[in-house]
Amino acid sequence: MTLFSHHEFDNHEQVHFFNDAVSGLKAIIAVHNSHRGPALGGCRMFPYANDEDALTDVLRLSRGMTYKSALANLDLGGGKSVIIGDPRQHKTEALLEMMGRCLEKLGGSYIAAEDSGTSVPDLQVIGRHTRNVAGVVSRPGILGQPSSGDPSPATAYGTFIGLKTAVQHRLGRDDLHRLKVAIQGVGNVGLRLARHLHAAGAELYVSDIHQNQLAIAVEELGATVVPSDQVLTMNVDVIAPCAMGAILNDETIANIKAKVVAGAANNQLAEARHDQTLADHGILYAPDFAINAGGIIDIAYERNGGTPEDVMTHLESIAETLDELFTRARETGRPTGALANELAEERFKLNAVT
Ligand code: NAD
Repeated sequence: MTLFSHHEFDNHEQVHFFNDAVSGLKAIIAVHNSHRGPALGGCRMFPYANDEDALTDVLRLSRGMTYKSALANLDLGGGKSVIIGDPRQHKTEALLEMMGRCLEKLGGSYIAAEDSGTSVPDLQVIGRHTRNVAGVVSRPGILGQPSSGDPSPATAYGTFIGLKTAVQHRLGRDDLHRLKVAIQGVGNVGLRLARHLHAAGAELYVSDIHQNQLAIAVEELGATVVPSDQVLTMNVDVIAPCAMGAILNDETIANIKAKVVAGAANNQLAEARHDQTLADHGILYAPDFAINAGGIIDIAYERNGGTPEDVMTHLESIAETLDELFTRARETGRPTGALANELAEERFKLNAVT
């Protein structure tokens, strides 16, 4: 296994490997870039097939966090951690406590948040031995709701704001009345996004693999259920992917009829070049890591003691970032995904410590 010549290495500042024979902890913590501040990113637990897969994942995800936080104008760098193991079998209190001790050794250069395979209660156990955990505090949340540390309400609201900005740019509309939106996945984020869209007068088409989530969308919001394999190619104005990644590929893009793609799912482009393919088809794509930054914004304000109003003000800036990206795309004829990467680089390289 190589590190400095690894294809995902991309100038990472730090990569730490931790092993504890007693608790069974095997973890990798990566700090990609800390020019803007301490590296914040999720702590993922997953039964990786081998160490190489775990390293590849942590490096790729850590780099992604640098770009997301910089694009959101947060004083945070990018990092990520992975615990190698099956969360259903290997996650014990002793293992999580040891993870906390490992985090503490890094002296605050990396701050862990919830990710797949870890929960808010898990982060609270990790937090017994370090203050370098985030998304764990109950506090007043946005829109008058209490926040338990779950970033989904902020992610959904940020996605809603970003979707409106995309609609303004591509469809020339300031209102969402009777706008047809197809949402793939009505889980934590997708259902909340659906509620915002419904309140703004949009017509909703939803798909999910869980019937109970669909039932809520139908009964509460009057949504129409569509089969999972048709949701992306519906004859609608906007599609909002809110389930899984890599759904924008050669096959789907050729059949998308919507003029706007604006959803919260991570890593929507199957390959980087697919942002150009979307543009070639006349589809305006809101880059995922720009539009879904609400969660990291919310977590950042938990750390600095900001109020719900501070969080809302920062969430509104997602619209400004997307406005800048869409304007650059129109002026240069270049795709929004590549432009988002460049804008993020401008923002984190500008703050480089000289
Ligand atoms: P979630 O698990 O609560 O919801 C995802 C939903 O998608 C589930 O209801 C699931 O049943 C459904 N789904 C899975 N496969 C599907 C398929 N083939 N077709 C239709 N629906 C399917 O997750 P979430 O927290 O709502 O996150 C959704 C997406 O947004 C993920 O990609 C996540 O990485 C991303 N994201 C979430 C946050 C956040 O704050 N939760 C922040 C940034 C990005």
